[in-house]
Amino acid sequence: MDFAAYFKSELDAVREEGRYRVFTEIERHCGHFPHATRYVGAATQDVTVWCSNDYLGMGQHPLVIEAMHAVLDECGAGAGGTRNISGNNHHHVLLECELADLHGKEAALLFTSGYVSNWAGLGTLASRIPGCVVFSDALNHASMIEGIRHSRAEKRIWAHNDPEDLDRLLSLYGPEVPKLVAFESVYSMDGDIAPIAEILDVCEKHGAMSYIDEVHGVGLYGPRGGGVAEREGQMDRITVIEGTLGKGFGVMGGYIAASADLVDFVRTFASGFIFSTALPPALAAGACASIRHLKSSTFERDRHKEVVSTVRRKLDMLGIPHIPNPSHIIPVMVGDARKCKRISDWLMDNHGIYVQPINYPTVPRGTERLRLTPSPVHTDGDVDRLIDALSDIWSQCELARGSLAA
Ligand SMILES: *Cc1c(COP(=O)(O)O)cnc(C)c1O
Repeated sequence: MDFAAYFKSELDAVREEGRYRVFTEIERHCGHFPHATRYVGAATQDVTVWCSNDYLGMGQHPLVIEAMHAVLDECGAGAGGTRNISGNNHHHVLLECELADLHGKEAALLFTSGYVSNWAGLGTLASRIPGCVVFSDALNHASMIEGIRHSRAEKRIWAHNDPEDLDRLLSLYGPEVPKLVAFESVYSMDGDIAPIAEILDVCEKHGAMSYIDEVHGVGLYGPRGGGVAEREGQMDRITVIEGTLGKGFGVMGGYIAASADLVDFVRTFASGFIFSTALPPALAAGACASIRHLKSSTFERDRHKEVVSTVRRKLDMLGIPHIPNPSHIIPVMVGDARKCKRISDWLMDNHGIYVQPINYPTVPRGTERLRLTPSPVHTDGDVDRLIDALSDIWSQCELARGSLAA
């Protein structure tokens, strides 16, 4: 086989569709988020980032930085091994206690990322519970899909955020069949939120385990940042709560929180947990400081909500179409991969505004979008510059205006 020609033709096909991924090279500046320097070869440009998942700016919070510096100096760079062989640092254990407490669960287990926590968590549960059938929301994240696929368990897909369809599918299986229902709280591309209580009613009716991905909820929702399930008083009804330390908490890593026995079961049988070097202790300490701070401080969450609603209101005034949703994510709809990329390039080149275009396969074709993520560290001036730039490009390209139906 001519490997080189094969790689090239596959990549050309992606380019042809206008969805070849170009990574923007930036250097974020601690203390100045959301501002960053963009690199294009030797040239640089000051930019404002409008598509970060560091939703609350915790990646530059003084308490987080201080904790990371202290533990870096105290423990050195790396963990020195897997959790099983010499890498089980005190700071990992402290972080797991903090996470268990955050979600009101007996225990928690850390992974190197949210992706790995879903892949290993779902993969292990679904493969190790004999005859387990997994019921997966149609819009679940790639990491959940891969974990379920890896388990080789039978999978049934229920209509997105539709408890009735879930009920219908669960009813096809007798009470003797072990069932695992997997879904998210906030879906990150449309920004819609699952009807958690209704889904849990259905799970309980059928004796199914529930597994929620709160990656886009933790830190942001609930009185202590425990996520949407905390806000809605549902955490104790959920079997497994999964989250990331890399988005709202601003650092890196993933976890599950559940009963002591379930966590011990995953710890014991998950290959993706046991055969991988533990997170650097400084990372664990930074995440711990972030979680602790957000348990008591509501300043970040309040200001976040304020900036999100200001951006929405100003988009509405200009008739720039965005999906109405109850979350912090603002998807501005373009509906064409090339156009989406061109608008994004133009915003960057002419206004120093960085919004990554979101194209297929992350979202369905025809729903290409710019996904705006305002944060508490965006100023009113940042917002005004964004809105002026969007208004300008919408006029220049004669893009459709008007509101999208809820
Ligand atoms: C980003 C994301 C993950 C993965 O989390 P990382 O910590 O970034 O690996 C899992 N689930 C959802 C829904 C996500 O958006």
